[in-house]
Order: sequence, then structure tokens, then C-alpha cells
Amino acid sequence: MSMTSCCVMGVACVRDVDVVIAGGGPAGCAVAAALAELGLSVLLVDAGVDRHKQLSGELLHPTGVRDLRSLGFGDVVDAWTSQPVRGFAVLFSAPERTVVLPYGHGATGVSLEHATLTVPLLEAVARRPGVTLQAHSRVTAVEQNDAHGVRLRFSHDGVEHTVRARLLVAADGRASPVRRMVGIAERFTRISTMLGVTVDSACLPHPDHGHQFVGGSVYALAYAIQPGVARVMVDLPLGSTAATLKAQPELLRTLPPALRSEILQSLKGPLAPRMASNDDRLAETVRRGSAVLVGDAASCCHPLTGSGMASCFHDARALQEAMRRHPEDLPRALERYARERRPAQRTRVALASALYDACAGQDEGMRALRLGLLHYWEHSPRGASASMALLASEESRMRVMAREYLCVVGHGLVAMRSSRRQEGRLRATVPLLRSVGPPLRDAVASTVEQVGSWWHRRVRRPVYTLARSGWVSPRRAFASN
Ligand SMILES: Cc1cc2nc3c(=O)[nH]c(=O)nc-3n(C[C@H](O)[C@H](O)[C@H](O)COP(=O)(O)OP(=O)(O)OC[C@H]3O[C@@H](n4cnc5c(N)ncnc54)[C@H](O)[C@@H]3O)c2cc1C
Repeated sequence: MSMTSCCVMGVACVRDVDVVIAGGGPAGCAVAAALAELGLSVLLVDAGVDRHKQLSGELLHPTGVRDLRSLGFGDVVDAWTSQPVRGFAVLFSAPERTVVLPYGHGATGVSLEHATLTVPLLEAVARRPGVTLQAHSRVTAVEQNDAHGVRLRFSHDGVEHTVRARLLVAADGRASPVRRMVGIAERFTRISTMLGVTVDSACLPHPDHGHQFVGGSVYALAYAIQPGVARVMVDLPLGSTAATLKAQPELLRTLPPALRSEILQSLKGPLAPRMASNDDRLAETVRRGSAVLVGDAASCCHPLTGSGMASCFHDARALQEAMRRHPEDLPRALERYARERRPAQRTRVALASALYDACAGQDEGMRALRLGLLHYWEHSPRGASASMALLASEESRMRVMAREYLCVVGHGLVAMRSSRRQEGRLRATVPLLRSVGPPLRDAVASTVEQVGSWWHRRVRRPVYTLARSGWVSPRRAFASN
């Protein structure tokens, strides 16, 4: 399908393309590059949110860097003025200890200011053959969406345009209006409010590392974004504002003194802090008719694992591979994409949720879990690298996550044995053991889902296909299974 355009001022036009992508963020850019590489014509419609004001993805794991390069963005990555990230430094507040978790195989990620990272991606993809960027435009309605294709409207400068496409990709971020337009529900929990400021990077004790400050009255994440400048994100209760932190500076009391005073100084400065809400979202499905969800539109979680953008680029590669394998069969391609990405996404969202509870939770059970994390990482080099592989999206199997969680709980019990406070030990053991429930449930649910998907693909569908072709009667076929 090739693109034809006929724009008359104020009059809606009809154009035909292979793919319309709603959203030119990390996910939309990566998918545009991936699908254009297959020779498809792509119309990338982007509303043009001001990325200089957003508190959003800035730390990119090595997997994300690798995927971007494989999608042909190597020149953009090389031109970024980014800071190297060699892993995480986790700073525990009680007991006051630090564990450094390097990426596996000496790999290096990057961190840089959000707009500096994303704007060049959009500029680069707009120059790709096969990609047309429709900037400052917003998808406003999906009028038709079935197995044959989609028809949708987008507005630009007050003019409504109509486009027909074989495939619609919703890459319009976590609030995803397009997901709602195509009628896909989601599981949504608002977790907390993030406040972000910039500080002098000299106050971060481990250069070239993402810093996680855990176990204090607030959780915080920090990393350098340019020479001498670091971003600090402070996780505050839902609905908080900068005024909350100004009024209660004691919330920062467990952070290193130099960092604390930098944050408070920054709050007094002329630049307003950037704010964002931290959400857990999981769409109930990632495909409907000829529409598919990618990036945050499909799922997002608390940013403490810094995995959002790596996951966007992974989605782009998974969709490209699915379309490459089934070029003539879109439903089959989308089914494959959904199947490929779902287990890893479930693990990512469950990991972020479990880790957030462990890092920020204030009850006895979560304190014991933090002791377990510290003990595990300090006593088991294998455990430290397994945890880091999960954090960095190198490992995405739910059963591995559940196994690691059990190890941490085991180490928590061992660490508590050496605690002198018998009463506190007893109070912590029950919630610590109870916290194992959700990760184990997730692991079982994920396994059941994968077995069901395998059964459908390998047994049910082939038998049904045979039955339809007259080889076996459908009733007999399914009766014998
Ligand atoms: C506080 C915070 C910190 C984070 N830190 C990290 C981190 O360090 N590392 C990391 O990897 N991830 C991080 N993330 C997550 C990361 O920012 C996201 O995963 C990533 O930005 C998602 O990209 P996306 O393209 O799916 O969506 P977005 O980046 O939200 O882009 C969506 C695009 O869609 C456009 N759009 C919206 N509606 C329409 C419409 N109707 N029509 C057309 N276009 C539309 C918007 O203009 C925008 O350009 C963080 C998130 C938060 C909230």
C-alpha cells in the first residue's frame, strides 16, 4: 500500500498508508524505524508534548542501547552527550551500607536528559525512507478497526484528516487515548508522586552509577545526566507537590547530607521541579482488530528499575520480528507479538512492584526484606548478578524472579536471626513470609498462561485447522483432546 495525500485547507482528506503510529516518543520512533525497515510506509503522528518539561526516561540499560543500535539508531546513540552507567549503587539507610551492582559482562548503559535523548530519535526517524512525520498532530478518533484495517482521524492546525491503514500502532504513552479509542481496558494503580530536580553530580558518591536510596523516609533515585549535573528523583506520597517537601524537609533526613542540601537548595532556585505520577498499568490485551499497543500504552510501572525505554525498544523489535515472520497474515503477526512480549512485561511490572515495596515499605516485613536484600547481595555474588540481570531487563522469566524473591526472603530470615530484638524478629517474620504470596501467584499465573498459549498454538489450532479442511470432524477432533 502506498501513501497518497490530498490536503485542501479545512477539508478532511483520505490517505492510505501501511501503518499509522500514534505517538513519537521512544516507542513510536523505534516502531517507525522497525517497520520502515520492512519496507512498509509509515505515517508517524505525534502530538508534540514538550519533552523539556517532562520528568521521564533518562537512564537507558545496555539492552536498550543494544536494541536502539540494532534498529539503526547507532549514529544517534554515538552523537548523544550522555554519561556512562555501569550499574546501580544501592544505598541502604538502616544499617547504613552500600552495595554496588554492576551490569553483567562489563556492559555499560547511558543516562542523559530526557529531551536530549528523545528529540534526536524523532528527528532521525523522520529522515528514514518510508517514514512521514506528521508533527504537532493528534489522533482524535478511530472510526473503524477490524481484521481488514483501520480508519482514523487526526487533527493538525484545527483541520481534521482521515487516514486508512492496514495497521494502527498506539505508542501514545501511558494515558493512551488511542488505547481507549479501540476499546482496550487496563489494570491501573496510581502509586506515588515523583519530584525531580537537578543537583551537582559531585554529591553522588558513586560516579557512573545509578543511585538507589532505599529504606529511608522517602525512596530516591539519582544519576548524572551531563558533566557535573545529576537528576535526583524523590518518591513522595500521592498528591504531594514541591511545597510538601519544602514544608517537610525532614523527609530527606536519611539521604547523604550533601545530597539533601543540594535538593533543598534546588527547590529554592528559579527552576520549578519536574513532577510526574508513578503508575502501574497493564492493558488487558495488546491487540484488537488491526490495532496494537506498544511501550507505555501497553504497560508501565514504577520507574525504579529504569526499564521503561528498554522495554519500548524491545517491543519495536518484537513487532518487527512478528511482521517479518507473517508478512501476509496480520492477525497472526499481532498474535505472535502479543505472545512474545507478555511474559517479559508481566515480570517487569511484578518486579517493579515487589522492589518498590521492598525499597520504600515502612512496615516490619519490608524492613526484614531489605535486610534480606542486603544480606543476599553481600553474601552471594551469584545472587547479586541474578538480581542485576532482572533489574536491567536482561532476564525476564517470572519463575527466575520468584526464585530470587524466595532467596531474598531466606536471607532475610537468616539476617534476622542475628538481630538482638527477639520481639521485632517475631513481628517481622509473618509479614515477610506473607510477602512471598504475590510473586509466587504471579509465577504460577504466568506459567499457566504460557502453557495455555502453547496448547492453543501447538494442539488446539492445528487440530481445528485440520477439522476445517475436512480431515477430521471438529467434534471428534476436540472430543479426542
Ligand atoms: C518519573 C519517571 C521516570 C522515568 N525514568 C525512566 C528511566 O530512567 N529509564 C527508563 O527507561 N524509563 C523511565 N521512565 C519510563 C519512560 O519514560 C517511559 O517508559 C517511556 O517514555 C515510554 O515511551 P512511550 O513512547 O511509550 O511514551 P511517551 O514517552 O509518553 O510518548 C508518547 C507520545 O505520544 C504522543 N501522543 C499522546 N497522545 C497522542 C495522540 N492522541 N496522537 C498522537 N500522539 C499522541 C505524545 O506527544 C508523546 O510524544 C520513567 C518514567 C517516569 C514517569
